Amino acid sequence: MTAIPTLSTFRRIVVKIGSALLVDQAKGQVKRAWRESRAADLARHHARGADVVIVSSGAIALGRTILTLPRGPLELEQSQAAAAVGQLALARAWSEVLSAHGVVAGQVLLTWHDTEERRRYLNSRNTIETLLAVRAIPVVNENDTVATAEIRYGDNDRLAARVATMASADCLVLLSDIDGLYTAPPHKAPHAPLIPVVARIPD
Ligand code: GLU
Repeated sequence: MTAIPTLSTFRRIVVKIGSALLVDQAKGQVKRAWRESRAADLARHHARGADVVIVSSGAIALGRTILTLPRGPLELEQSQAAAAVGQLALARAWSEVLSAHGVVAGQVLLTWHDTEERRRYLNSRNTIETLLAVRAIPVVNENDTVATAEIRYGDNDRLAARVATMASADCLVLLSDIDGLYTAPPHKAPHAPLIPVVARIPD
């Protein structure tokens, strides 16, 4: 079986963190202990000289609880308002836990246009490069408050993949409440086997 390299062998790491791990939906808060231990992990890689970029979800999940919006799907305007409220709390949460390790966080909010239109792509890339050059950790999310229904990532896995390419990262980690790649969605097919390593990607 192909050996999985450890994280400490990578020079530039993008870590995507999903809402389900980060946000306590009932309380409308960022889960403190979990966030602190992830910040400690990331600060360790930062301290060994690696460049670290966080792509953090959670703005809408946090904001909707803070605003006590009803359960279920939200209208676009409601998601945008929830993101506006939640993003503030999210950014503060990351800034707080990273600063406990002496690491500065910088917020980067991107829309689909910022990664797909050349001039804006170059501009976003320069900002991320500059933040890394001054040893800050960029904390990226989609700018959900201005993203429209037709043109948005909507999904931070895709945004993280784009950010990883944009930053020429040599490693992208997707942290979620699903253990890994399954042959079928595990909540629909509980016996679907986990594929620990994809050694080769066929056509
Ligand atoms: N950008 C969304 C948020 O911060 C998350 C999208 C996703 O869950 O992938 O709420």
